Amino acid sequence: MFISVLDLFKIGIGPSSSHTMGPMVAAKDFRDRIQAFVVSHPMPSFLQVRCTLRGSLAFTGKGHATDRAVTLGMHQHTPQGLAKLNVNELFQKLWQQNTIQISESTLIHFNPPEDIIFDRGEPLPEHPNGMIFQLLDETGKTLLTETYFSIGGGFITTLPEIGQIVAPIKMEAISSCDFPFDSANQMMKMSADSGLSVAAMKRSNELGRINETQLNAGLDAVWNAMRTCLENGLIAEGRLPGGLNIKRRAHSLYQQLQDNPHKANLNDWLCAYAMAVNEENAAGHMVVTAPTNGAAGVIPAVIYYAVKHENATLEQVRDFLLVAGAIGGLIKHNSSISGAEVGCQGEVGSASAMAAAGLCAIKGGSSEQIENAAEIALEHHLGMTCDPVGSLVQVPCIERNGFGAIKAYTAASLAIRGDGQHFMSLDNCIAAMKQTGLEMSVKYKETSLGGLAVSITEC
Ligand code: SF4
Repeated sequence: MFISVLDLFKIGIGPSSSHTMGPMVAAKDFRDRIQAFVVSHPMPSFLQVRCTLRGSLAFTGKGHATDRAVTLGMHQHTPQGLAKLNVNELFQKLWQQNTIQISESTLIHFNPPEDIIFDRGEPLPEHPNGMIFQLLDETGKTLLTETYFSIGGGFITTLPEIGQIVAPIKMEAISSCDFPFDSANQMMKMSADSGLSVAAMKRSNELGRINETQLNAGLDAVWNAMRTCLENGLIAEGRLPGGLNIKRRAHSLYQQLQDNPHKANLNDWLCAYAMAVNEENAAGHMVVTAPTNGAAGVIPAVIYYAVKHENATLEQVRDFLLVAGAIGGLIKHNSSISGAEVGCQGEVGSASAMAAAGLCAIKGGSSEQIENAAEIALEHHLGMTCDPVGSLVQVPCIERNGFGAIKAYTAASLAIRGDGQHFMSLDNCIAAMKQTGLEMSVKYKETSLGGLAVSITEC
């Protein structure tokens, strides 16, 4: 299997990759399909678009701004294109409109408050994050329809695509890479056989599609966006949107650490950095999926610490991202990175495993130590549920990223002090995560129907 590091780390906006970025991409895709459809078919004078959200998107889509994402996508916006715009201002304008201009002669009725439906009935059987888009005529007859699934990390599939694959993942064929590892064991064997590091093998796989200059530019753009997002979060103050009235904390924590650096420990810095990113995500600002929005703080926090406090070089940052991408690809291929599928073990757990592997690599870890680091970090997130309060990616998500970063750093340190030999393999740990996710009640898979989400006392 091959999943590009530049697909796994995508620059976009918050607060959720599966509930914001995926639906935006799906809406934009359906709009493109309408555009192609209307030029090749006779059209009635009245056309209307409807989007029905199912499953987790229906239950937590309000808090995750899914309706906002669908509206932006229907107006041709993409997460990447919005990263530097004032999204709130743009959205307010589009929310008031009740039409979409598809072509010079085709205007389609689309009134977001009425035409985006949160259907809390049975989820679609194929996946918890379903969306049905329809183009209707004035009698309500469907002229064009497509069903999409937001499968985590901003990736989407359609109904025909999801039926063709066991795990709903868009990837390229295994034969298309120099080092087609599908498991951590294969990764270590290929590394031993070739004498190449995990970063070098991943780089070689990427260079089958783009050249070295493009790859480095892509990795640098990802790191620059991560750093900008993190530093924006360290500066910003105030309260987060959504109704919980949660105060941003990264800024004041960072101030305290800077004022008294001799009292600041590793955990303090990692928490400040990770929380800064996730507060930016919660605010709907620019963020990089790593591998999702909800878990976007872990990897930038660990890299930022390595750069700022341990003098990691740009070359090491690139290697970090490549190794983290390799581990993220294995998890996505063999289990899931989506909270709606397997709970938070798949989001913050995966991010922590990826960060542990990346850090271990740049500290000089062998392939076995890298595998060990990822396994330690993932193992200690197994069973973690997804129960965001008020369907917002705030509580427990913001703090949880700080703890994911701390576990990542600890896992890399433990692994680097060992010889790579250990009892539980990363492959078995990933399989355990998948099985745990399958057996986890739907209440704990991004529906806000259980756990912390129902444990707050109104006052
Ligand atoms: S609890 Fe975890 S998986 Fe759920 S929304 Fe928050 S970060 Fe994502």
